[in-house]
Amino acid sequence: MIIDFHTHTFPDALAPRAVAGMAAAADMMNYSDGTASGLLASMARSGIDAAVLAPVVTKPRQTEDINRAAAAVNAAFQGRGLISLAGIHPDTESPEKVLKSLAAQGFFGIKLHPLFQGVPIDDERNVRIVEYAASLDMIVLIHAGADPNYPGLDYASPRRLLALLERVPHRKIILAHMAGFDNWDEAAALWGAPCYIDTAVAMGPWRRRNGQPSPAAPMDSAGFVRAVRAHGAERVLFGSDSPWSDQGEALSAVRASGLTGGELSAVLGGNGAKLLGWEG
Ligand SMILES: [Zn+2]
Repeated sequence: MIIDFHTHTFPDALAPRAVAGMAAAADMMNYSDGTASGLLASMARSGIDAAVLAPVVTKPRQTEDINRAAAAVNAAFQGRGLISLAGIHPDTESPEKVLKSLAAQGFFGIKLHPLFQGVPIDDERNVRIVEYAASLDMIVLIHAGADPNYPGLDYASPRRLLALLERVPHRKIILAHMAGFDNWDEAAALWGAPCYIDTAVAMGPWRRRNGQPSPAAPMDSAGFVRAVRAHGAERVLFGSDSPWSDQGEALSAVRASGLTGGELSAVLGGNGAKLLGWEG
C-alpha cells in the first residue's frame, strides 16, 4: 500500500481560483488542478492507494467552512482513498472546543501552517492547540522550514520547532518537508526527535511556472538516505505536497534514493497505515 501523507485539494468551485492564485503568488507550477478528482487521477497514474489531505485555514472565520468540506470528503470516501485532516487557525476562538468537536467527528488530525497563518509555531497560541490535540491523540501535521510565499520568515524554523517539541512531546506530530524545507542543515537538529517527518518536496522541489527549477536547493539521494536513517525510517512518511509537485516523480525519487526494501515499504505506506490505525 502506498500512502501520500501530504497533499492539498480545494472544493471544486474554489479550486481554479485558489490554485491559480497560489501558483502566481509563489511562481510555482501546479501538477494537478487542485480538485479531489484531479488528485485521484494523479494517484491512479502514479500507483498511489491513499492520500491524506492537509487543509490550511488562513483566517479564523474560514474554520467552519473548511472543516465542513473536509468532513464531506471523509464521508464520501469512508476512510479509503482520500482522508482529510481538519484545519484550525491559532486565533480560532475556544480552540479546545473546536478540537474536541473535530475529534468527535472522526478527524484523525489537524494541519498547522505557521507562515500562512502568521503565527510562529512556538507562540503560546500554537502550543495550546498542539497540547490539546495531543491530549486527544490527534495527528498534528506542521509545515516545517522555509516557504517560497514568505521568503525570510522564520515562523516554522527548525529552532522554533525544537522549542515546540520541548514544550509538547507528542509522538503524533509530523514535521513536513524533512523537518525544514530549504533549511536542511538546521533541520538535522530535529532528525531523531520523537515525532514523524514527511518527505514532501525534499528531493524534487517545485518548479517555476515556466518549468525552470525553483531556487530552493533539493536534497540529493545520499543526503535524503542519511536523513531518513538519522531520524529512523519507522517515523518517516512519504508525501508529495501535490498539486505542488508531481506524485509519480516524488515517488520515483524516494524509490531510487538507495533506501533498503524494508525501509521503503515502511516510508511509502507501512508507517502511514499504522499511524492511521489501519494495521499493526
Ligand atoms: Zn503542503
